[in-house]
Amino acid sequence: MFCSNQANAAEIVYPKTDNCIIDSPITAFIGNEKNTKNLTINGQNVKLHSTGAFKHPVKLSYGKNTFTIDNGIEKKIYTITRNQYLQANYSLNDKPLFYDIPKIIITENNKTVLRSTPVDKGLNRLQHLQRGIELKAIGEYKNFYKVILGRDNIAWVDKSQTKLSDKKYLSKSEIINLKTNRNENGEELVFNTQGLRLPYILTETTNGLDLVIYNMNTEKYPYGIYEYSIEHKGKLSGYSSDYNEKNELVIKVNKSYQNLKDLTITVDPGHGGREYGAIGCLGEKEKDINLKIALKLRDKLQARGAQVIMTRTDDKDVSLNDRVKTANDNNSEIFISIHANALPDSLLDKEIRGTEVYYFYPQAKKLAKNILKSIVKETGTKDNGVKGESFAVVRNTNAVSVLIETGYIIDPEDNELLINNEFQDNMAKAIVTGLENYLNEL
Ligand SMILES: [Zn+2]
Repeated sequence: MFCSNQANAAEIVYPKTDNCIIDSPITAFIGNEKNTKNLTINGQNVKLHSTGAFKHPVKLSYGKNTFTIDNGIEKKIYTITRNQYLQANYSLNDKPLFYDIPKIIITENNKTVLRSTPVDKGLNRLQHLQRGIELKAIGEYKNFYKVILGRDNIAWVDKSQTKLSDKKYLSKSEIINLKTNRNENGEELVFNTQGLRLPYILTETTNGLDLVIYNMNTEKYPYGIYEYSIEHKGKLSGYSSDYNEKNELVIKVNKSYQNLKDLTITVDPGHGGREYGAIGCLGEKEKDINLKIALKLRDKLQARGAQVIMTRTDDKDVSLNDRVKTANDNNSEIFISIHANALPDSLLDKEIRGTEVYYFYPQAKKLAKNILKSIVKETGTKDNGVKGESFAVVRNTNAVSVLIETGYIIDPEDNELLINNEFQDNMAKAIVTGLENYLNEL
């Protein structure tokens, strides 16, 4: 054995082991060298940052690739295997199938996902449906039923989240009334669907200001759809929908807030416990950096009078579901998840650094923009823009939710910033400023 525990050799944090499989034409050695200024990998000079950190891209050929990491004192040998590209195995049964006689299916999960395409990921989610909702399937493709909503709207639902009904015809219902209740948190709209759980899609208008609900499979409305606009004073500040025990559809819409003092904010330090997240060049773990920034953020928000809920305050495992549950159970209006970024192997030859802020629902885009703008201004990180992405913690929370990738922990320059206490403090300060700017926006 070469490697491990060689005090005088360069420290390699990625690849994680010296004998591994990486199925990519490119990867990089990420780590640090603190003994000398002259580090080579297979004879090529490695550019060392002033901290000793490096990210050195290498190409991989098919089969075994051997790398000698040499600082002039001790050598390490790494073997990386790249497998031959395997042609994906498409089955002949993967053709779309159209039923002669439609099937009636019933949702079984409380988070049955209605999608716009038969693909199990990404931004194609139309709605999470509760259990006990009847749908008419007119065909199937792979693991999905193709369902028809109203007269001619198509959507897809995972077969495993439904069961077959023995009914021949779809039950339909009239919306007989709509009640609106106001309370201190906002308003509640109650749709009476005559005891029948109808499929629906609740969606934001593209300006992120209002909501529209489409109750499907209703009688007496054009195309079998009852459409209702939920107008809202001020910007959207979180909402949820659910059927209650009387099978009424209840939509809760939070009122808009302008003052931090009125808000409950859930702060979510990414990863924790056995889940390290990414590993930085100098060996530090993403979970620890996330926690440090998140605790500083908590203190600053509390100092301004906000109610802050943390998904963790120490180094422990917390599932994605529990993070979402914490935010929802505490009726948070804002949810902020803190992360530090890494790259897939195939992009490790690129000089990518900087900050990104992710959101899923349009209502959160303005918050994402304000936070990013403030971070870039106050910390000087590169502006990589705001991006829509289907991350579980921003998708399943009822709050206005964002996920911040503060910087690239695997990039020597960003890495130096991320482990710096003052930078972490400025990052937390910038997030608060961004949040305040968002609240002050009309
Ligand atoms: Zn992360």
